[in-house]
Amino acid sequence: MKKESDMDWLIGGGEMGEIIRAMDWSQTPLGAIASWPQSLRTTVSILLNSRYPMFIFWGSKLVKIYNDGYRPILGSTKHPSALGKPGPEVWPEIWDTIGPMVDEVIAQGKATWSDNLLLFMHRSGYSEEVYFTFSYSPVQDESGGVGGMFCACTETTQQVLGERRLRTLRDLAAQTVEAKSVEAACQIAMKTLAHNPADIPFALLYLLEAEGNHAILAGTTAIAPNTTASPARIELSDLTQACNWSLARVARTAQSTPIIDVIERFGALPGGLWHDPPHTALIVPIASPGQERPAGLLVAGISARRALDDDYQGFLELVAGQIASAIADARAYEAERQRAEALAELDRAKTIFFSNVSHEFRTPLTLMLAPAEDALADTDAPLPPIQRDRIKLVQRNGLRLLKLVNTLLDFSRIEAGRIQAVYEPIDLASLTAELASTFRSLIEHAGMSLLVDCPPLPEAIYVDREMWEKIVLNLLSNAFKFTLTGTITVRLQGFEDRVELAVADTGIGIPPDEIPHLFERFHRVKGARGRSFEGSGIGLSLVQELVKLHGGSVRANSQLERGSCFTVSIPTGFSHLPSEHLRRDEAQGIGVSRILTLDAHFRKYG
Ligand code: ADP
Repeated sequence: MKKESDMDWLIGGGEMGEIIRAMDWSQTPLGAIASWPQSLRTTVSILLNSRYPMFIFWGSKLVKIYNDGYRPILGSTKHPSALGKPGPEVWPEIWDTIGPMVDEVIAQGKATWSDNLLLFMHRSGYSEEVYFTFSYSPVQDESGGVGGMFCACTETTQQVLGERRLRTLRDLAAQTVEAKSVEAACQIAMKTLAHNPADIPFALLYLLEAEGNHAILAGTTAIAPNTTASPARIELSDLTQACNWSLARVARTAQSTPIIDVIERFGALPGGLWHDPPHTALIVPIASPGQERPAGLLVAGISARRALDDDYQGFLELVAGQIASAIADARAYEAERQRAEALAELDRAKTIFFSNVSHEFRTPLTLMLAPAEDALADTDAPLPPIQRDRIKLVQRNGLRLLKLVNTLLDFSRIEAGRIQAVYEPIDLASLTAELASTFRSLIEHAGMSLLVDCPPLPEAIYVDREMWEKIVLNLLSNAFKFTLTGTITVRLQGFEDRVELAVADTGIGIPPDEIPHLFERFHRVKGARGRSFEGSGIGLSLVQELVKLHGGSVRANSQLERGSCFTVSIPTGFSHLPSEHLRRDEAQGIGVSRILTLDAHFRKYG
């Protein structure tokens, strides 16, 4: 009877309550339950009546008693045998870590606190990486000393692993964004995976060839390429390659497949953080949603210290998904780049064609113009008036064609980067005034007036003389062409950091919606009524290119029927210009060779 009443306190406690009640404690260092001190009874009833995982180590032998909540922590190999056993016998594999902590609690009577402590437990048949957050607390017995130790603990393995894997996925997404090619995406991905050796002891990334017969190694983590385990190229149709990773099957089924005899197939491969060679690897297809067949395959070693559970497999499939989208992005980028390159190549071919054609046109043109000029200038055998008019017409149109060809040549030179600018310090006010004046008689002859306002500038301006001439002459000839009455004004103004050339007219103006397109090549305003219908729509874009070569800009303002103003702005000084094209000594005036160009420029109006 006495015995039964001794057990009265031991009620409830689920499965563990029953096991504890049924156990013959006289065979343990704690002795029969009837002999247990009140302190032990109270502590045991607290833990049995809690659902939180708890256990105690009691007495000098540190005998273990635990509740239902704690059972999963012991795994299949330690429960229920751990009950009533001394702590060091239950946990030999981690006793070197927790033993000193337990001893200290018992000896000092002070509680401990551990946060996500890493332990390697043998509870499921292997050394398993697990994490715990717990506190060890001393329990006083009737003697006033410490009778045992009480622990409430939480296993945080999933949480720690989850955060670590999430970090890898985040890094993978962030790093692979930079990849500009599929190769780079693969390399970066593999490098990123190397930062998580605990979950990915090794990895191989294979890309499947377009026709699907071969897998080509595109990157590795922890294994050098071209070893038996990492062949550079795997024949997928050759099923005799028994020692390979069975990639063919995964390529076909597009289903993740574990290989559980890695050591038998390849020997000891790198074990990652804990150095134990993985016995398992998972082959994961690299496929984006909607893709018919995988782009590649990821061979991921599985940590020997973790089982390949759903979480682990899910993580590796997310890794593969991330790599798949990095590869898809890189492919899209490559395709875009190739398209741009093809266009640039086409553009280069066109430039070369222009350049060759213009060159070829110039020689016969010059050879035609020279006899026409001679015929017109010949006083010994003067042409009869009617022939003279015909030859003049030939000459005028020849000059017009020459100008066009020259402009095309300029353009192709600029585009091919072959134009050799020479920037020299020039008295830009005098040069501009001089250039403008060459138009004076033409303008006045047409009943209009020319206003030249180019006051001296405080410093010489670095320009390529020939280019500046083209800028001024193109703007002036446009002003003349599109103005039938009024005034053409050429104004050069100095500012602190720049000079501005404005060529204004009182001509037909430009519709506002045309202004943004004016500087586009071959663009002409529809229906513009000019002095002549000549023109190619190339002058203004040449002006813009030439101005750009001076580090400047050009803009247009215009009002229909009121007139237009084109303003060129170029920086002063020379720090913005390439030093190898600078000439520091000043040259003056318009060169003789230039006169010929100018002549050709406005004689077409004559
Ligand atoms: P082009 O004069 O050979 O046609 P440009 O590139 O020099 O080629 O000019 C492009 C178009 O811009 C011209 O066809 C004309 O319609 C318009 N344009 C240029 N300058 C003026 C101007 N001063 N007044 C009115 N329209 C102009």
